[in-house]
Amino acid sequence: RGGTAEREVPFAQPGSLTRVYAVASGKGGVGKSSVTVNLAAAMAADGLKVGVVDADIYGHSVPRMLGVDGRPTQVENMIMPPSANGVKVISIGMFTPGNAPVVWRGPMLHRALQQFLADVYWGDLDVLLLDLPPGTGDIAISVAQLVPNAEILVVTTPQQAAAEVAERAGSIAVQTHQKIVGVVENMSGLPCPHCDEMVDVFGTGGGEQVAAGLTRTTGTQVPVLGAIPIDVRLREGGDEGKPVVLTDPDSPAGSAIRSIAGKL
Ligand code: ADP
Repeated sequence: RGGTAEREVPFAQPGSLTRVYAVASGKGGVGKSSVTVNLAAAMAADGLKVGVVDADIYGHSVPRMLGVDGRPTQVENMIMPPSANGVKVISIGMFTPGNAPVVWRGPMLHRALQQFLADVYWGDLDVLLLDLPPGTGDIAISVAQLVPNAEILVVTTPQQAAAEVAERAGSIAVQTHQKIVGVVENMSGLPCPHCDEMVDVFGTGGGEQVAAGLTRTTGTQVPVLGAIPIDVRLREGGDEGKPVVLTDPDSPAGSAIRSIAGKL
C-alpha cells in the first residue's frame, strides 16, 4: 500500500445498485470480447448506463471494437474514462506504451484492476462488464476478491473441446462463491448464404454441455442465455468499432445478442 490508502471499490459496497458481470471463457478466440462489447452497446442503446473494464491482458481489444479512440484523462485524483456509443471504457491497453504486450505479474494486475474499479470515475452505472482474460488466472481471482458480488457469464463455442475448458473456467465460481449468471454459446453455426441450411462449423452442443456441467458443480441451475451464429457483420463491426447490435440490430447475430442483453 505504500502509505496511500486504497479507495474502496464502489461496486462492492452493500448498497451498490450496479450489476457487475465478469465475462469469462476457457480459451481465447471464442468471441468473449465481441460478446462483451455488443452486450454493452445493446444495453446502452436501451438507455442503461454501462461501463466496460477491459481486463484481458493478452488480447485487450475492447476499445477498438467499441470505437473508443479517446484516452483516459485525470481530473483531481480520479481517472476519467473515454467513451463511445454510450459506453464508458477503461482498458489495460490504455496504460501500456504503444502496442506493448502486458507482462505484468499477479500483484501488479491486482493493483491495476483495483484502480480500474476504484479510481476511475464511473458515475452511477446500471451495469459494469468486465472482459476477463481467457482461463482461470490471477485476474479472475482478483475480481472475486475485489467485487465478490460480480456474476460470471461464460462464453464458449459449440465445440466439445472448447466446452470442457470453458466449464473449468466457470467452475472457479464454486471456490469464490460467485454466481454464474449463464452461458452464451458463440459461433453457433454459419447460416448458409445460398440456402436455408445451417453449417455447424464448430459442431453443436457446447453451450448446453457447459451449462449442464456448471449446474452440476455449483448445485444451482445455470441457463444457456442464447446462441450467437457466425456472422460476417459481427466480425466487421468489431474491426470497424461499430458493434453489430447498433449497425444491424436485426441481423442474426445482432438479434441474438440483444435477446441475451435483455436477460441480464
Ligand atoms: P476472444 O475475446 O474470446 O479472444 P474475440 O471477441 O476477439 O474473441 O473474437 C475472435 C475473432 O472472432 C474476432 O476476429 C471476432 O471478430 C471474430 N468473431 C467472434 N464471434 C464471431 C461471430 N459470431 N461471427 C463472426 N466472427 C466472430
